[in-house]
Amino acid sequence: MDFLPFQSSVISESLGAMLEEDGDLCPGINCCMVCGAPSKLSCPSCNAVSYCSEKCMKHDVNDSSNDEEAQGHTTEVCKLLKNCSSPAKEDSRSELESYPSTLSNLLLSHPSFEPILFASSSSNRKSFQVHVVGAEFGSELWTAKDSFGACGWREAYAEALDEVCEVAGIKSFELVFINTDLEEKGVERLSNKVSACCINSKYEDLKPTSFVITTPDLLALFNAGFTCPDYDWAGTLTSVLSSASGPIPFFATSNSELENLNDVEWLDSNGFSTFDLDGDEGANQESENEDVVESFFGENPFKGSRVRQSGMLANDLYVKSSYLFGGTLSLPRGGKKRKEEEVDDDDYDDDDVANVTSKSNKTKKSKPNSALI
Ligand SMILES: [Zn+2]
Ligand SMILES: [Zn+2]
Repeated sequence: MDFLPFQSSVISESLGAMLEEDGDLCPGINCCMVCGAPSKLSCPSCNAVSYCSEKCMKHDVNDSSNDEEAQGHTTEVCKLLKNCSSPAKEDSRSELESYPSTLSNLLLSHPSFEPILFASSSSNRKSFQVHVVGAEFGSELWTAKDSFGACGWREAYAEALDEVCEVAGIKSFELVFINTDLEEKGVERLSNKVSACCINSKYEDLKPTSFVITTPDLLALFNAGFTCPDYDWAGTLTSVLSSASGPIPFFATSNSELENLNDVEWLDSNGFSTFDLDGDEGANQESENEDVVESFFGENPFKGSRVRQSGMLANDLYVKSSYLFGGTLSLPRGGKKRKEEEVDDDDYDDDDVANVTSKSNKTKKSKPNSALI
């Protein structure tokens, strides 16, 4: 996969108006991709986009040569959609392995995480605990059976995190996976140094145990979707941060740059984190040393290679966790915190993590860069 268009689905004004009216309409999925009428046929080649008529189907290829514009159901999009339903084994595997890989590589190579990683190894506890919130079977957790010839989640996290322990001198790396439908098996040892525990609970109801602590060293949120109306993230974060002993470093992933922006804006406007989306020079500040981890925003170089079809717009494609951002979460205090001091950004080395840009240079809204894979 060299390049995924930002949006392929072409939405006419009249279709746009229909979507405003009826939030359940998903063009090309449960109605005609072009006009929104009930669908009667689908693309004979990929079978992944539906239309009301041959006429609409023919219409769904925009021959505009402008790369910035949605192109509709082009040959390239059709080919990619065809692969969505039967992805190559290595692509499926790389998507699964992107979870441990993103976690371990961020810790090892992103300068933002150096303070917490190395603070942990010099503390008395000699342990590092990550809470993976909203973990799901088939995503963050998978069995060897459905891992397409590779190992299951236990082996994959053990291998990835053993390396982190080695580099940072951590004696015990602890993973806590939390969601409301996980099977609890107690604390499992994944390797000499890595152990894990699945907790069947809402994150805000998480009870500390001899293993689980209330202030993890890092919060991992894969495809959290802070703006999703079905979930009360504000309530969850407030309650989690209230019982924590201080700010919590975090990273989150999302499926597109737009989702990433929405999530960051949501955190910022709700006062949980400080991001400067305008990208003013020097706005990258540590607010009175409260931000344990300097915030960042960018493409995820450790994403997998499996391309998926959007569930909302049939011609749109995405790669899970293709973008990420992170920083420090803290309880909102009297609205948004903003500082204007200049901060030296020199110690950031672009070569360490290709394309995970610190927020002060992330505003170059370039097209997705294919050089990463
Ligand atoms: Zn139609
Ligand atoms: Zn097709």
